[in-house]
Amino acid sequence: MDRNDGEDRGTGRRRVLGVAGWSLALPVLGGVRVATERAAADAAGDGIPVRKQRSTTLHRRLESTFGDAFEGLEPGRPDLLLDVRYVEGTAVSEVTKVRIVELFRRNGIYAQWLDHPRTYDRAWVRERYGWSTKALLWDREGLYRETVEPWLWDVALQLFVVPGVAGRWSEGRIYSPTMDALGAGIGGYVNGFSVGNRAVVAERRYPDDEARLCLHEIVHYALCHDDDPGNAGVMGTAEVLDVTAGEWERLRTGLGNVRDTTGYDILLRPCLWEECLQGLAGRG
Ligand SMILES: [Zn+2]
Repeated sequence: MDRNDGEDRGTGRRRVLGVAGWSLALPVLGGVRVATERAAADAAGDGIPVRKQRSTTLHRRLESTFGDAFEGLEPGRPDLLLDVRYVEGTAVSEVTKVRIVELFRRNGIYAQWLDHPRTYDRAWVRERYGWSTKALLWDREGLYRETVEPWLWDVALQLFVVPGVAGRWSEGRIYSPTMDALGAGIGGYVNGFSVGNRAVVAERRYPDDEARLCLHEIVHYALCHDDDPGNAGVMGTAEVLDVTAGEWERLRTGLGNVRDTTGYDILLRPCLWEECLQGLAGRG
């Protein structure tokens, strides 16, 4: 399972991220804030308070991290910053980035696809965390908690792109203990996973698959699978890169979900909690 998948596409890329090259920020405790106060200061309903949208410090930090891809934040405009982080050797095609950004903007959400400039060392991630949703997304000593800078927790959605498991039937998938417990996925292996304000996708070879998977996991920040019972494609159809009009409406009103709304640093979709996690409560 841990063998190199033989593609060797990462050899020429920077191997920057290791223990030394990436700040291992621990979560700051005592960060419980009052939701109503935040809502009052959030004109666009995107979870990014006006105070922060006007903050030159935040703009400078975003510019210095993401460069020209960052187009600024505008008070009153429903912004959605996608902070996309790659494991060495993975990529998302430029076509997919453009398709997703344009789709969001056509539907009233000013999405910005921001590729994080540093890639995670592939062997380091595999050995330290493994290709598991829990270890990548919400473990106390997981990739998200240990590598995503706290100042970005509240303003952007983090999307991790990983190679996934190399193996015959689990190729290009991620192990999800929650799905395994439910008997879902293939032996618990899934293509992607979202916990609202952060998500992971396993790299896809074909652009259409890649775009649909990225869109699916991104829109999970505000949508469950059954938000539109009439949607036989389960939140986006297999044929069209889109969600329904009603689902777009929910996305527009749910932009604030990108923020930490729990006092912890994780957002659990109500459906995820109901469908998957109740039986696992207390197990970390
Ligand atoms: Zn899903």
